[in-house]
Amino acid sequence: MNTCDSVSTKPSCGSNNGAVADSGDPLGWFANTISHSLTYAQIQRAQGRPIVGMMCEFTPRELIMAAGAIPVCLCAGSAATIPAAERHLPANLCPMIKSAYGYHVERSNPFLEMSDLIVAETTCDGKKKMYELMAESRAMHVVQLPHEQNGKDALEYWVNELYCLKEALERRFKIEIDETRLRESIHTMNRERSLRRRLAQLMKRDAPPLTGRQLAQLRSNTSGIPEDLRQYERALAMLEGREACPKTAKKVRVLLTGVPMAFGAERVLDIIEGSGGLVVCTESCTGLKPIYEDVDIDAPDLMRALATKYFHLPCSVMSRNTDRLDLLRNLAVEYRPDCVVELIWQACLTYDVESFYVKRLAEEELQIPYLRIETDYAPADSARIQVRVEALLETAKGRKQRV
Ligand code: SF4
Ligand code: SF4
Repeated sequence: MNTCDSVSTKPSCGSNNGAVADSGDPLGWFANTISHSLTYAQIQRAQGRPIVGMMCEFTPRELIMAAGAIPVCLCAGSAATIPAAERHLPANLCPMIKSAYGYHVERSNPFLEMSDLIVAETTCDGKKKMYELMAESRAMHVVQLPHEQNGKDALEYWVNELYCLKEALERRFKIEIDETRLRESIHTMNRERSLRRRLAQLMKRDAPPLTGRQLAQLRSNTSGIPEDLRQYERALAMLEGREACPKTAKKVRVLLTGVPMAFGAERVLDIIEGSGGLVVCTESCTGLKPIYEDVDIDAPDLMRALATKYFHLPCSVMSRNTDRLDLLRNLAVEYRPDCVVELIWQACLTYDVESFYVKRLAEEELQIPYLRIETDYAPADSARIQVRVEALLETAKGRKQRV
């Protein structure tokens, strides 16, 4: 039987995961996920399949796949491209938007450069205005997102928007997205979500068999790659039977919530785990949020079923976004965190304002300590963040010992 030590020799919290070579080990495979995705996209494109770039979990990958195209995520986690972005964009903007736009200006993201189309969405103000600039030189289809989830009219509007996207894809790629193709892509995405969800659920254990950092690495920026699905299955087979890990059992369990962490932007996660915490659950678009619910493949109307799944995504651009608080309540029961850390990218107003509710939920309802961290991609504040995280973990540890 595997032990947790064999995991800890692989990329661990705080290490540079990109440096690990493929080893037949799924963690090694996903350590090189960007290069695998790029190779896959290049091969598929050479065989005539279009590439579609996207930057938001409201974009249904299933429709893109049903159009015979490859959906690639353009969310960016590098600080290096931000100066180029600031030639056009205000400095006081979310680093994820600036980083992605900087790649656009520099023409240095191979996934963006090979994209035949970008599917954009009207979520936060910064992103939708950035898309306007990007659309001056790139083919783009904008999906208009309703910003409330409770009204029936909003769902009808969203269903209609997805039909508009479907027609745009069919026109551009000269293909009919019929029910068979859509069902097949829903099946693939449901399978991918289910495998990733099962991996995340390993963190429910008292002594999880991997760290939060290792779990965060077990994903791709390109969905539906057959080898990725095989590697998720291998990871599950390897980790599900693993003995309880005494190292992870002793750590302070952290629920990390807030903004997504694109590849390369996991600094706060690394600080938490480098300070003695264990991120057992991530409520964000690079964590559990988009994989918590599947598309109902047995529904009589697949387009409506697809719209309904994505419509439920509890993103802070929704008003009100009470579903996020319900999700956090559920996750707190399932993953039993000792504290909550909320990550806010600089100038992300929607998540920042919502932090009021999350703090109140953590401290008053769940009765566990809460810490809000607002930062960007520059490491200048790492020491200050570390001090605050250490204080939080001490408080949570003291409380845990008293309970
Ligand atoms: S946090 Fe909201 S805007 Fe950002 S990727 Fe997720 S759904 Fe899209
Ligand atoms: S993190 Fe916030 S500001 Fe940045 S793209 Fe997402 S919703 Fe917009």
